Amino acid sequence: MFGIYLHIPFCLRRCKYCDFITYAGKEKFLPGYFAALITELRHQAKNLQDIPRQVDTVFFGGGTPSLMKGEWIEILIDCIRSEYGLAKHAEISLEANPGTLAPELTARLLKAGVNRLSIGVQSFADRDLVLLGRIHNPSQAVESIHSARQAGFRNISLDLMFGIPGQSLSGWQSNLQQALALQPDHLSLYSLILEPGTQLFDDVQCGKLQPVSEDLSADMYELAMDTLVEEGFSHYEISNWSRGEGFEAQHNKIYWKNQPYLGVGAGAHSSLNGLRVANTPLIEDYIKRINSIRSAEKGNFPAAVERLQLDSYTMQQETMMLGMRLTREGVSDQEFLDRFGKRIMDVFPKELERILARKLAEWRTFADGPHLVLTRGGILLGNQVFQEFV
Ligand code: SF4
Repeated sequence: MFGIYLHIPFCLRRCKYCDFITYAGKEKFLPGYFAALITELRHQAKNLQDIPRQVDTVFFGGGTPSLMKGEWIEILIDCIRSEYGLAKHAEISLEANPGTLAPELTARLLKAGVNRLSIGVQSFADRDLVLLGRIHNPSQAVESIHSARQAGFRNISLDLMFGIPGQSLSGWQSNLQQALALQPDHLSLYSLILEPGTQLFDDVQCGKLQPVSEDLSADMYELAMDTLVEEGFSHYEISNWSRGEGFEAQHNKIYWKNQPYLGVGAGAHSSLNGLRVANTPLIEDYIKRINSIRSAEKGNFPAAVERLQLDSYTMQQETMMLGMRLTREGVSDQEFLDRFGKRIMDVFPKELERILARKLAEWRTFADGPHLVLTRGGILLGNQVFQEFV
């Protein structure tokens, strides 16, 4: 599998918890940024050696990709199709914020080829949305989901957040029930992380807000696990649930399976055959670097500010650390052997001994042989398992 990620680092306003590479008040750069994305895509298609010649997934992430014009999204998808080749049933996802998803845009995105929408609802409670600094209210979120369904989207994912200061277990339960009533195909549930440098972090530091305790946050997570499985969802990744395998996020599975992807745009990362590359995070710098390709030969990764070539052992560690997040399928011993010429047990004997003795993971039989998969206890203590492979 091979995916292309396009980063759209524009937001109307910065949420109070956000530490992503994104900027508010820079919409005037959108046309130039769109043109630079096209140039970077074309340039990389010509200059990168050894990349798969078919793209299985495309992901427009942000930031707020729904701030882009529908026709730009269509041109970008057409560009990927003509320059790289697009698989017949490629998953093409776009992240959208409810306050920016007008019905006309939703219909236009579907026509452009987007077949999966990931909608950043975060909460159905007004007070949570105000506290988080989101631009939308609960009814806008509901309207966005209805209009996406009406437009014809058959694969809709909702993002929800738990552990918001002041949120109770029953408040979280109500959020889950409201999300389920909208019949999403996929849910991503994230615990709020208070990142230094964000307004929410400062509000908690100075005592203005009380953070949710670790115990309550863990109870919220377990409540989600039990509720969603009862509702027929498959818990296939630590933070992700789907209505069956057909709705698992294929693009994100490329990350979790440590497979190759190309990132374009400011702040985008690429991972190709052990080479890790990060583009400049600054919008103006990105546009300038990409525009200068026209006047000078820049080789591949013209907007890169960091490059790192990983050795084989580090790749093996990453493959375990990321793959163990996949709670349904875990890491296939056969896939590991095909890729690295060694079995998991040969590379990580001590780590496996510890994890298995503590019953944090177990071997389960799949069609291609044994997979190492987290147990329920391992899911709840996931970080202790992942740290074994750092
Ligand atoms: S919409 Fe998303 S990317 Fe934009 S500021 Fe809010 S959390 Fe950050």
